[in-house]
Amino acid sequence: MSSKFINRYPEWLPSDAFFRQHPMPLHAPKPLLVNKPLAHAFGIDPEWLASKEGTQVWFGNPLPLNADPMALAYAGHQFGTPVPQLGDGRALLLGQLPDQKGVYHDFQLKGSGPTPFSRMGDGRAALGPVLRELLISEAMHALGIPTSRVLTTARTGEAIARQSGPEPGAILTRVARSHLRFGTFEYFAHRNDIDGLKAVADAAIAWHYPALSEQEGPARYRGLLEEVTQRTLSLVVEWLRVGFIHGVMNTDNMMLSGETLDYGPCAFMDHYSPQRVFSSVDRGGRYAFNRQPHIAQWNLARLAECLLPLMEENAFDSVVEMINAIPDQFQTAHDQMMRRKLGLLTEQPNDRALGESLLAAMDEAQADYTNTFSALNRMDPPAWMAQWWADYQQRLHLEPDQPAKRQMLMASTNPVVIPRNHLVEQALQAAENGDMAPAEALFAIIQNPYQNPGVNAQEYLRPPRMDEIVPATY
Ligand code: AMP
Ligand code: MG
Ligand code: MG
Repeated sequence: MSSKFINRYPEWLPSDAFFRQHPMPLHAPKPLLVNKPLAHAFGIDPEWLASKEGTQVWFGNPLPLNADPMALAYAGHQFGTPVPQLGDGRALLLGQLPDQKGVYHDFQLKGSGPTPFSRMGDGRAALGPVLRELLISEAMHALGIPTSRVLTTARTGEAIARQSGPEPGAILTRVARSHLRFGTFEYFAHRNDIDGLKAVADAAIAWHYPALSEQEGPARYRGLLEEVTQRTLSLVVEWLRVGFIHGVMNTDNMMLSGETLDYGPCAFMDHYSPQRVFSSVDRGGRYAFNRQPHIAQWNLARLAECLLPLMEENAFDSVVEMINAIPDQFQTAHDQMMRRKLGLLTEQPNDRALGESLLAAMDEAQADYTNTFSALNRMDPPAWMAQWWADYQQRLHLEPDQPAKRQMLMASTNPVVIPRNHLVEQALQAAENGDMAPAEALFAIIQNPYQNPGVNAQEYLRPPRMDEIVPATY
């Protein structure tokens, strides 16, 4: 490793925002899968990372250079209910390293043992979810969507107790622009700690929104709310573009950086179903696919409540107005996204209806979300689409005669490859049985989501058969 960790949290946040602690000692961690492209982006040798020594050092025996491990405190709203204290119950922040461009990122161990924030949890992570986070977050990154990523994973060698029985334990290193959450504000708001709120806001501005640093006073914090709102909206529109269901959009899983974080009961949709839920605990469908924009707005309202004390005394009405304006902004961004998926270069009044009627037909036909749009890329409409296709051809008459440009737009918007649930599950099953080949292969395939992987890899494009559909077990 060429660089040493720094840790900017103690410098920026009050001392009750974190708890210093060492990761639990691991006797014989065994490397599972190393993210080579990410290692290179930080100048870390992936061969070393995958070696016995690298695995020992990276997972805390001894610690990597200058690491200052700590569990971060946060609060949040879980399924709509306020929880004044959550915090890292099984994660430890090691510090930050700069990437090759000089941008600092947090490095955090997940599955590193209990912390004062563990409550009833065991502080551990199981092999399946660890590899799942690696595969799905990496696909998200390759799709061009802001996200935390996983640098490296290892088996801990111990069995851990889960509802379904004992599972092999594992640990991962997560890399993210920061771990400042909406819930980090909520933690200080619950304590009526205005200085704490201000410290979090100033850290978020310095790390993620440096252009706001020039602003002073209330304008600075209103600016932060506006910027986080924009990034959050654009993130959720991107999830919808690729058919992603986050699954636990609790405020503690929403990042001030606008990155996707916390890959728990998440999924890329196979057949299109707007009410689709993947998490077995989400019985009311609170975090269903099509509810994500509304939930983002709800979460932003919670963030706004935390920021109000930093704004001018009569800010309330204008902040409410700002929150109320979100659905229209979302709709506009969604319209633009859908136009890109349809390859439309101009804006016409009926475009929204055209997009909606395609989604309705797709729902009716139980058509595969990804494959339907990639068929459009190829101008190869399936039979169930005939009626809509005729409308679409009419609409294309209003477009400039630039089929190549349209084609390029669609090919860069509609992925061909997503990490399909049944393939992810098969890869995890194999890994549990000691065979890493399917996970390695899937990891390689998802690196190029906008390219057809070729005749020998068509298996990755096929939707699951009925018997392959993964039930919501997370
Ligand atoms: P999540 O639903 O993944 O956002 O997690 C909610 C909270 O539960 C966070 O405070 C986590 O740190 C904590 N948590 C989740 N799993 C465990 C575990 N196995 N042990 C300890 N804490 C956990
Ligand atoms: Mg979480
Ligand atoms: Mg989680």
